[in-house]
Amino acid sequence: MLIDAHVHLDKYGDLLDEALNEIERERIFTFATAMDAPSYLELRQIAQRSALVLPAFGIHPKRAPEYVARLRDLSQYIETSPAIGEIGLDFHWVKDSSEYPAQLKVLEYFFAAAREQQKIVNLHTKGGEKQILDLLERYDIKRALIHWYSGPLDILRALVQFGAYFTVGVEVLYSESIRTIAGEIPDHLLLTETDNPGGMKWLKGVVGMPADIQKVVEHLARVRNSTPAAVSRTVHANFSRMIKDDPWLRDTHSLLSGS
Ligand SMILES: [Zn+2]
Repeated sequence: MLIDAHVHLDKYGDLLDEALNEIERERIFTFATAMDAPSYLELRQIAQRSALVLPAFGIHPKRAPEYVARLRDLSQYIETSPAIGEIGLDFHWVKDSSEYPAQLKVLEYFFAAAREQQKIVNLHTKGGEKQILDLLERYDIKRALIHWYSGPLDILRALVQFGAYFTVGVEVLYSESIRTIAGEIPDHLLLTETDNPGGMKWLKGVVGMPADIQKVVEHLARVRNSTPAAVSRTVHANFSRMIKDDPWLRDTHSLLSGS
């Protein structure tokens, strides 16, 4: 089974039916990350339409200032969500540094909950890679997915040492620096994502679809001197291992074991 471990399914609008059909037809396990509370509620509805869709609750760092004063309101969503994301830090695209304390506060609130509730976290790290590593260590978050990593190579290696997983996405089709990163990630920590529909939109101005995950796998195979089938098997095995004893993801684990 193909693994798309970071997707914004609620952003498909009129193309949602087509996206879900593609997910079912190509058998793509889909880790559907939220941006905020309304986005999570929508993902829960969407997930009822496909067993391949895992809805997750998170507050994107860009949205942190809106939620920082009402963190307790988030608990009801965190508690019902089987996984956490998208959460993280963005000290790159968010230029206004007065927002950074709010980002940190929201992230730490989620990390504390993830540790207590034994949930996996799906992370945005742009410009805050080192701080994320420090917080993962401090909160002892063992099962973390780092999405679309594009930061410094020394921090990448430290995150590898820590045991974080990395989702390589559609930029591997176009960027030398992402290919370098994709070549650095050890086999046992490699995952794949599309970040669609926005991933391809941001890179090429076209709406990305779920099946783009196949192109990611093909390009990863080239970068890693492997084959698409072998990369796909590795990624599947990695995701499956990461959630093996997760009390929230038993159904997901059996779904992956059955394919
Ligand atoms: Zn995202």
